[in-house]
Amino acid sequence: MQYVSTRGQAPVLGFEDVLLAGLARDGGLYVPQSWPQFSKDDIRTMRGLPYSEIAVRVMLPFLGGAIAEDDFRAIVKDAYASFDHAAVTPLVQLDQSNWVLELFHGPTLAFKDVALQLLGRLFDHVLAKRGERVTIVGATSGDTGSAAIEACRDRQNVDIFILHPKGRTSEVQRRQMTSVLSDNVHNIALHGTFDDCQDLVKAMFNDVAFRDRMGLSAVNSINWARIMAQIVYYFTAAVALGAPDRKVAFTVPTGNFGNVYAAYGARAMGLPIEKLVVGSNSNDILARFFASGTMSAAPVVPTLSPSMDIQISSNFERLLFDLLGRDGAAVTASMNRFRAEGKFEVTEAQLAEALAIFSGHRVDEAGTMATIEAVWTGCGYLLDPHTAVGVASAKAAGLPADVATVILATAHPAKFPDAVEKATGHRPDLPPRLSDLYVREERLSELPNELGAVQDFVAARARAAKEAA
Ligand SMILES: *Cc1c(COP(=O)(O)O)cnc(C)c1O
Repeated sequence: MQYVSTRGQAPVLGFEDVLLAGLARDGGLYVPQSWPQFSKDDIRTMRGLPYSEIAVRVMLPFLGGAIAEDDFRAIVKDAYASFDHAAVTPLVQLDQSNWVLELFHGPTLAFKDVALQLLGRLFDHVLAKRGERVTIVGATSGDTGSAAIEACRDRQNVDIFILHPKGRTSEVQRRQMTSVLSDNVHNIALHGTFDDCQDLVKAMFNDVAFRDRMGLSAVNSINWARIMAQIVYYFTAAVALGAPDRKVAFTVPTGNFGNVYAAYGARAMGLPIEKLVVGSNSNDILARFFASGTMSAAPVVPTLSPSMDIQISSNFERLLFDLLGRDGAAVTASMNRFRAEGKFEVTEAQLAEALAIFSGHRVDEAGTMATIEAVWTGCGYLLDPHTAVGVASAKAAGLPADVATVILATAHPAKFPDAVEKATGHRPDLPPRLSDLYVREERLSELPNELGAVQDFVAARARAAKEAA
């Protein structure tokens, strides 16, 4: 299996290099040269298998032999043993034709764990084979830092440094990061804002000598292996509901377009999917694209579903690559135009091709709250605000009743207790694995908003730097 860049100028790479590279050198995103194919019989034989076994079958073709099957099986089993539900991603039925797919049973209660728990272990495996180490640096406003930390904790060949703005994350968010006491985890509480944290991370990457000496790397949402890991649960959910002999659709609360692009991948691999419903909050660039064929940026507004407060969905470039006939030059032209003018458009035929697969919907704050309330009243189930955007979008899509519709639950309601309590009068409890969060020991280092201070801190602790010295 080889991977090509959506911009057509970067070298074609195998799985290991794509895993470690993240972004392609031409600024593009890596996608498989062709999709592995699963027949209806292949899919039928997945029925009744454990999550990890379906995961191995679905992902193995993407590795192109880079990791031996038995090693890979052990890595996958270990990754999903960290989830607190035996089914890993269980389904819950809401009504006659709608199910929720709970993706929040990992260590940080959000769906990013599904991909990141595997990614951290894959990094470690490949780095050990190569005798290399990397230093992950990242900035967080509170939401995504903990999933990266949980992915990297205790890994042999990875050190992780996460900057958060001191005093500007919620206490739960901070504690989820700072109560991880592993030697290779370094939380930096910066005297500054989230933008300051991001600027410092960018500055570290732009300092080429520093970047090379530290072996800097990132685990961001454009990494191909994250998409690969997310394809799995579309198969497990569809098969559990009777696919390929029953019609299935998915509704995905969407931000960066990574999760719903994974669904597109599952479909391209032969999983029959009637429709992919893209749910947006008030940051509705995708809903406007599917309505008009024009992608046009607008300012980001804060909402009850902060992980979807995004106006540039970076993974959309992977879909655009296919809509433009896998023409890297055409993708480059569109992305350049987007950067210069804040918009680009596709032709009517290309939009029609997209609409044969996707539909896009926008759900505002009132709609989000009303949906949390209605589902709680209707079946006593608590939705988090992101999942509520999905449930409302599924309704708006108006799919036929004989289609089993799966709504992806991307966060546990206890991650957003204030909104849930306001909508239902019921405050969700943290699950047992986090119930002692408020009494756990914390470890963090406060640093001034100065590049030199942060670089010195990283250089003194990163094992990659010590070996280079
Ligand atoms: C990241 C995230 C999303 C958006 O997923 P994308 O893959 O970026 O579209 C939705 N909900 C939650 C809770 C998230 O953390």
